[in-house]
Amino acid sequence: MRVRSRTSVAADTGCPKQMVYGPCQGVTAEGGCEVDGRSCPFFARGAVPYSALPSAPRQLNPGAERLVGLLAERPVILTEVPSDGPDPARARASSERLSTRVDGIVLGDAPWARVQLPPSLRAGIAAESGLLTVPGLTCRDRNRVALEAELHALDAVHASAVLCLTGDHTALGSRPDAQPVFDLDSTRLAALATRRSSLVAVAERPTREWPHRLDRLRAKVAAGADMVILNHAPAEQAAEFIRSAKQAFPLLVVIASVPVVLSAEGRRRLAAFGGGTLESGNVGAAERAHDHAIGLLSAGADGIDLSAAAGADETRLALDALHDVGGALRAAVVQSAASSLPEHQGR
Ligand code: SF4
Repeated sequence: MRVRSRTSVAADTGCPKQMVYGPCQGVTAEGGCEVDGRSCPFFARGAVPYSALPSAPRQLNPGAERLVGLLAERPVILTEVPSDGPDPARARASSERLSTRVDGIVLGDAPWARVQLPPSLRAGIAAESGLLTVPGLTCRDRNRVALEAELHALDAVHASAVLCLTGDHTALGSRPDAQPVFDLDSTRLAALATRRSSLVAVAERPTREWPHRLDRLRAKVAAGADMVILNHAPAEQAAEFIRSAKQAFPLLVVIASVPVVLSAEGRRRLAAFGGGTLESGNVGAAERAHDHAIGLLSAGADGIDLSAAAGADETRLALDALHDVGGALRAAVVQSAASSLPEHQGR
């Protein structure tokens, strides 16, 4: 008897990303596909439960152990690094500049600057500066074998956590000439990543337009996710989702994203990244980002992921803003943690 693979099941749905655990984060509020507007096959039926067996307990690498230890003490302050292309020297300079101000960096894969150094190389460079590292790994540009190889390489550089992402379709980004892969989706990549030594991170969208997003996160947690990084959202919706996620998954580390909007071009890019759901009242300049972050920590977030929304030629501006906002935020959480310690622990 011929057994149909999960990939062939996904192909049957007509999803351009061949997803099994859909919908992806890009589905529109009306259930339209982000790629070509077709009706998303996952939208109406709710999240697909994760059914495979969880993996065995694993030994964490030193970078992951450091992150776990820090989370036990206080919220962590992470920042995304402005994209500076495939240049190791610039990546090193950015990491060094941020390393005295924040705890770690999230190394994403922005669709408008798609050609970047491999995640393991970027994570290795950042770790040289003493930063915790959360490299993103997308299914768009690598088949399963290449993903496995990259996961092994991330072991070698002691990545603190691996952010497992399906990825944006190339038709949406700046490289429509490239053929997307989508051998796996984020949930299946998360399950694969539990075989290695980093924490497993996933993304989720806290905005309200799709009612089953907590169940989509449940599938990722069942697959082995230790941490979720929430996309940008209006403050009230983000806080509501943080509370729901902490109640549903008490052991899950919840990191909330906070944008520092630096220009009109940055706002446009951020709105596109958030599927058009970002409200102007949610974002602000550097001074507003701080208050936004403190509010999300008060709602129960275990950490903040700062990102700078800026134009392509505003990398320096973005780095300066992340340096300043990140530093002030980390100082605030360190002070708050110290003041809440019993007297004997504070000495
Ligand atoms: S919105 Fe996403 S999950 Fe739905 S069909 Fe399109 S690519 Fe697939």
